[in-house]
Amino acid sequence: MERKVPVGRVDLAKYIVVSVWFGCNNACSVCMLSDIRGTLPPIGLDRYRDVIRDVVREERFENLILSGAEVTTFNELDRYVRFAASFDWFRKIQVQTNGRRLADRRYLDNLVACGVNEFFVSVHGLEEVHDAITGVAGSFRETLAGLRNLEAYKGVNVITNTVLNQTNVRELRPLMNFLAGLRTSEIHLWNLFPMGETDRRDLLVGLPEFLQILPEMLEEVGPSGKPLVLKSFPECLPAGAPAVFDDWFPVTVLPNRFWQEFGRSGFGSCVHREKCGARECWGLSNAYLRKFGDERELLSPVGGRDAAGSRGAD
Ligand code: SF4
Repeated sequence: MERKVPVGRVDLAKYIVVSVWFGCNNACSVCMLSDIRGTLPPIGLDRYRDVIRDVVREERFENLILSGAEVTTFNELDRYVRFAASFDWFRKIQVQTNGRRLADRRYLDNLVACGVNEFFVSVHGLEEVHDAITGVAGSFRETLAGLRNLEAYKGVNVITNTVLNQTNVRELRPLMNFLAGLRTSEIHLWNLFPMGETDRRDLLVGLPEFLQILPEMLEEVGPSGKPLVLKSFPECLPAGAPAVFDDWFPVTVLPNRFWQEFGRSGFGSCVHREKCGARECWGLSNAYLRKFGDERELLSPVGGRDAAGSRGAD
């Protein structure tokens, strides 16, 4: 059965992620890379060019995501974007960012002129909570200025991303109300998926607590007509429109060290896995299992084992 993504929504199966740079100007508590970021090498121009040429030649992915840690701190980003855009192949060139540098209108103008036409911007809370999570006072104001600047570009798609954690869980209702009012096409909410065996920073939120606040969040997002895209949550959780589960893991070019660490996360773990047809579901992380248990009563297999992957609520 074919993966179904509604027209107009971002379909990550059509994207390839190329991680180019691992510098960052934030120090986010929720960063998946925080423990290994300093050990990851940038891709380098030669390898980057080879990757892009291969992608274009194979015609497998029509969209490109430039990612890493914070790619806007890479002073050759515009050159990399121009190279990808020069093939006139990619329909979308997305930059994943904390949005702070987009507060500089000239910087943003240049990126868009070079070929970026989609931004995926992390917003983890309203002012104080966001700054507490990023570890940088004033970062929310800069990110917000970047989002306001983006509103001027009619052909540019903007998506926000929030990582659920103990610092923002009690603020999600007003945050969703705020995000719903921005000129964006989708609101993504990621369940924290620690790379290690434990939740060292006590950031994970239990699923029962999340399910209590989810209806309030949906109430806030609903009138905007935007989907609330749930990533790395068990797909059998009772959600409902405008929530949609999307656990597609796009093809991603990253240093091997990342994949070694990612192997410790427990990706895909679930007591019901053998009976479940949700093949894209990430299940629960090792850290979650240690902290809260396997939630066997709360989770239940979706469809038959042969059913297709991700189950959307839309
Ligand atoms: S039962 Fe299926 S959908 Fe639910 S968490 Fe397990 S694998 Fe995911």
